[in-house]
Amino acid sequence: MEPQRSPLLEVKGNIELKRPLVKVASRLPLPGSRRKRGPDQMEDALEPEKKRTRGLGTTTKIATSRPRAPVLTTVPPTQGQTAAPKVPKKTGPRCSTAVATVLKNQKPGPAVPAQKPGTAAAPPMVGGKKPGKRPAWDLKGQLCDLNAELKCCRERTQMLAQENQQLRDQLREAQQQATALGAERRVLEEELVRVRTQAEQGQQELGNLSARVLELEERLGTQEGLVQELQKEQLGLQEERRGLAARLEEQERRLQGSEAALLGSQAEVASLQQKTAAQEALLAERDERLHGLEMERRRLHNQLQELKGNIRVFCRVRPVLPGESTPPPGFLLFPPGPGGPSDPPTRLSLSRSDERRGTLSGAPAPTTRHDFSFDRVFPPGSGQDEVFEEISMLVQSALDGYPVCIFAYGQTGSGKTFTMEGGPGGDTQMEGLIPRALRHLFSVAQELSGQGWTYSFVASYVEIYNETVRDLLATGTRKGQAGECEIRRAGPGSEELTVTNARYVPVSCEKEVEALLHLAHQNRAVARTAQNERSSRSHSVFQLQISGEHTGRGLQCGAPLSLVDLAGSERLDPGLALGPGERERLRETQAINSSLSTLGLVIMALSNKESHVPYRNSKLTYLLQNSLGGSAKMLMFVNISPLEENVSESLNSLRFASKVNQCVIGTAQANRK
Ligand code: ADP
Ligand code: MG
Repeated sequence: MEPQRSPLLEVKGNIELKRPLVKVASRLPLPGSRRKRGPDQMEDALEPEKKRTRGLGTTTKIATSRPRAPVLTTVPPTQGQTAAPKVPKKTGPRCSTAVATVLKNQKPGPAVPAQKPGTAAAPPMVGGKKPGKRPAWDLKGQLCDLNAELKCCRERTQMLAQENQQLRDQLREAQQQATALGAERRVLEEELVRVRTQAEQGQQELGNLSARVLELEERLGTQEGLVQELQKEQLGLQEERRGLAARLEEQERRLQGSEAALLGSQAEVASLQQKTAAQEALLAERDERLHGLEMERRRLHNQLQELKGNIRVFCRVRPVLPGESTPPPGFLLFPPGPGGPSDPPTRLSLSRSDERRGTLSGAPAPTTRHDFSFDRVFPPGSGQDEVFEEISMLVQSALDGYPVCIFAYGQTGSGKTFTMEGGPGGDTQMEGLIPRALRHLFSVAQELSGQGWTYSFVASYVEIYNETVRDLLATGTRKGQAGECEIRRAGPGSEELTVTNARYVPVSCEKEVEALLHLAHQNRAVARTAQNERSSRSHSVFQLQISGEHTGRGLQCGAPLSLVDLAGSERLDPGLALGPGERERLRETQAINSSLSTLGLVIMALSNKESHVPYRNSKLTYLLQNSLGGSAKMLMFVNISPLEENVSESLNSLRFASKVNQCVIGTAQANRK
C-alpha cells in the first residue's frame, strides 16, 4: 500500500511534471485520434510526423506551425502542390519521371489504387522501365503514349487534387487544433505560473518548514537532554522511593511496636493516674499539714525569740590589730557561762586600774573590775559566721513577718562596720551581717516558695549625718548630695515610712546586694575628708522591706529588716582646746550623742510602755520607729575595743548596752495582713 503523500510531496511532483507539460504545449496531436491527454499522448505529440506518415500512408508533408526539415527530399510539399499544375504537358516522360520519382519514394497506400494490368495501351510505366523510344514514324504509337501519359497525368492531377483537399482539411483541422492547443497552452501556462507560484510558495514553505524542522530538531535535542535528565532524576527518585519505602516499612514496624507499647503505657497511665489522684489527695493533705506545721513553726520560733527577749544585746570585742599595743593580761575577761566552758560566753569583765589612787598611795594601782552580762558575748577570736549564726534566727523572724532591727553600737574603731558589712576585700569568710542576712533570706525564701510563698525584697541604704539624710545608693548627678532626702510617711494614714529622693532597689540575689554595698562604699568615700572620717560620724541605715505572699491561702506578710551601723559613740574630751575644726567636731559629736541618747530613751520608753515614745527627737529613731515598736525584735551589738587606752569608752558603751539589755519590749506580733 502506497503511503499517503504529503501536500509538500505533491508540490514536488508537480514541479517534476514541469518539463513534460511544456513539451506538450508545443506538439500537435494526430488528426482524428485525439484522446485524453496523458504522458503517452505527450510522447505521441512529440512525433506527429511519424504517426501521420504511418496513419496516412502518404508521402506528403503536413504543414505545422513551425518550420521543419522537409521529409520529401525530391519535391518540397509546397512546390509539389503548386508545381503540379505547372508541369509542362509536353514533357510526358519528364512528367512521368517526376511522378515516378514521387511514387518511388512513397510507400504504397490505400489512397492510390493499383493499376490493373493490361488496362493501358501504353507500356506500363509504373514500376517498369521507360518504354523504349518510338520511332519517329510511329506517330500513332507516340500519340498513344501521350494519351496514356495524359491520362496518367489527369489521374495524377485528380489524385493530387484529392490529396490537396485532404491536406486542406488536415490543415484546417490542424489550425483548429493549434487554436485549441494555443488556448490549452495559455491555460497550461497559467497553470504553470500558478504551479510555479505554488512551487515558490512550496519552496518558501519548505524553507520555513526546514527552519521549523531545524528548530524542532534543536528542541528535540533539548527535550532529549531534558528527558535524559528526567530519566536520571526518575532513577534517583526511584532509588529514593525505594529507600523511603524501606524506611516507611521500618517506621510502620516501629509504629506497630510503639502502638503495642502505647497500649501497655495507656494501661500503665490509667493505673498511674489512679495512683496520682490518690497521691494528690495525700499531697493536699500533707500540704495542709505542712502549712499547719509552718504556722506552728513560726509561732514557736517567735515564742523562742520572745523567750530570748525582744531586745537582745550582744557584746563583741574585736581582736588587737597589728601595730596595736597588747592590753595587760586580765584587762578583758570572758567568764564561762553557767553551763561551763562549753556554754557560749555571756559575761565580760573589764578591769580598770585606778592610776590616780595608786599614785597617791605609792602602791601599785588597784584595779576595779566591771562585770557585764549580755545575751551573748563574742570574744576577739569569734568569726563572722559564728556571729551570724546567733542572729540568723532573727532574720528568720523577719521573713515570718516580724520587724527586726539590728544595731552596731560602739566607739569609732571598735569593729561596728566590720560586724555589719565585713572586712576589706572580697573574702567571704570576712563577710558581715548584711550580706550574710540577705543570702540567708534569699535561700529561705526559695525554700518557702515550695510551700506556696512568694517573697520580694526592696533595699535602701541611707546615712544620717548631723541630722541630715543622704542616699548612699544615689547614682549619677545625685551622688554625694545631701539634704534633699526627707523621711515621710508613704501615704496619708500609712504606717510605712519612706525617704524621699532615696533609691529603693529590688534585689533578688547576692550579686545585686554586693553591687549595692559597693555603691554605698563609693558614696561614702566621696564625702570623706582628710580631717574627718565622716562614715564614723554618721549612722548608716540599711533597710530591706520584705514582702511575702501565699496566693493559695490568701496570706500576706511584710516587715522591714533594718541593719544599722551607728556613728561612733565616743565623747569629745572636754579638756581639749576648741579650735575651728574642733568646734565642728563638737557639733557633730553633740548630734551623734543626742541621737544615740534618743535611741536609748526610745528603748526605755518602749520598755516602760510609756504613752509617748520620743521617736521624733532624732532622724534615726524617726526613721526606725517601725522597727522598734512592740511587735519588733531588736538586737544591739555593742562593739568593744580590746585596747586598754579605750577602756573609758568601752565602759561607756558597756553601760549604755547594759541599760538597753535591761529593757523588755512588749510582746512581738507578726505584721500579718
Ligand atoms: P568602726 O566601724 O567601729 O569604726 P571598723 O569596723 O572600721 O570600726 O574596725 C576598725 C578596724 O578593726 C578595721 O580595720 C577592721 O578591719 C578591724 N576589725 C574590726 N573588728 C574586727 C574583727 N572582729 N576581726 C578582725 N578585724 C577587725
Ligand atoms: Mg565604721
